[in-house]
Amino acid sequence: MNSDNITLQTKHTLPILYWDRFSDRLSAGVTTRQKGSSARPYDSLNLGTHVGDASTAVTKNYQILAEELQCNVNDFVTTKQVHETTIMQADKMINDEEADGLWTDKHDSVIGMVFADCIPLVFYAPEAHRAAVLHAGWRGTVAGIGSKLLERWAQDDVSQTEVYAFIGPGICRSCYQVNEDVVAQVPKALRRQTVTSLENDQYLLDLPTLNKELLVEAGMRKDHIDTTTYCTKCDSEFFFSYRGSQRTGRHMAFAKLCTKGG
Ligand SMILES: [Zn+2]
Repeated sequence: MNSDNITLQTKHTLPILYWDRFSDRLSAGVTTRQKGSSARPYDSLNLGTHVGDASTAVTKNYQILAEELQCNVNDFVTTKQVHETTIMQADKMINDEEADGLWTDKHDSVIGMVFADCIPLVFYAPEAHRAAVLHAGWRGTVAGIGSKLLERWAQDDVSQTEVYAFIGPGICRSCYQVNEDVVAQVPKALRRQTVTSLENDQYLLDLPTLNKELLVEAGMRKDHIDTTTYCTKCDSEFFFSYRGSQRTGRHMAFAKLCTKGG
């Protein structure tokens, strides 16, 4: 079941899986693939700029999303994602630098990461009024990209216990078959909850649950973490899936701070 704060809804023109726990202070969620302008196999709201889609279509899709989020198309800050754990403070100058995480405390940018099966992690710290978006595939997950963000924020006295997170739609346990090399990097104490053995040294890995358990291990409260049951491969009508088809588009997890309200 989706957490109460997670709803697929159209606020203006586009269906979006919104994280509405702090809706007056933070606009955050994950886009779907619907109502965009890209042709197959990128149909239709592809926000990936390096996947082979026509750049005119991708540009149009960013305009469509900007309308939905009521921002300017130049407000998006994205990176070149490389499955590592570099997290940068968002700043317009860093577009297309290599990083798998962005955070901000400014209102004038929309930070975004793009996905097709990897797990989006969106964070918000209400006291400090700062947000982050991370890209967690299995490599970033086992390398602890989530705890790296929490450690970085702790340097500014943002305690892990006051941070909230949304673990967005990614590939589900039933769809994510991996080999022994991957499982060997999952912390032993978490394997019982997150790994299922199949035949021939193949396994199923529950990447969303692994991320949740790692965030709790890093000091977050369980009741501060919202989750979704959408799977990018099972729910192909809504999301892009690399395991479903290697030539495909990307949806985006985004966060935009609203002017700090009273
Ligand atoms: Zn699935």
